[in-house]
Amino acid sequence: MNYCSNCGAASLVQKIPEGDNHLRIVCENCHTIHYQNPKIVTGCLPEWEDKILLCKRAIEPRYGLWTLPAGFMENQESLEQAAVRETWEEAQARVAPLSLYVILSLPRISQVYVMFRAPLQDLNFAPGVESLEVKLFTQDEIPWEQLAFPVIRRTLTHYYQDRPRGQFPVHVEELLPPSSSPLQTS
Ligand SMILES: [Zn+2]
Repeated sequence: MNYCSNCGAASLVQKIPEGDNHLRIVCENCHTIHYQNPKIVTGCLPEWEDKILLCKRAIEPRYGLWTLPAGFMENQESLEQAAVRETWEEAQARVAPLSLYVILSLPRISQVYVMFRAPLQDLNFAPGVESLEVKLFTQDEIPWEQLAFPVIRRTLTHYYQDRPRGQFPVHVEELLPPSSSPLQTS
């Protein structure tokens, strides 16, 4: 960001504003403080009988790897609307109702993932423009070595741990980078 999005002047500096305790991007011309805050990614774990719907990514990053349908929230939409929209865009799949399931904070990259469990309404799914393929997987078929992101692996791991008990409590966690994650040491 070189120019102030408020006044257009090339007068952005980094400083700690009075009364604040974080370094911010501040315009020295119009004095606007350009706050940068975490982004929310949300999506679904679409269920059909004993299967889960995964999408093979047609875009970078992680082209060709499998993921749950999820993406960044847009302005002016609710969390649930965003999760349903992403599921439609990536898998052309209709899901309802949504049950809050996993909230993962990724502080290193300033993102929060919010994943819902959601039954598929029918089998009329198909790849959206961001997917090469969408497919239902049983637990034995899940391509664990070809999952796109650690958050997807974590969400599916919770799911298959919870499912035998038939209870799906909400999991709220911080997902650490692989080098420091206790989840990766076993
Ligand atoms: Zn300005």
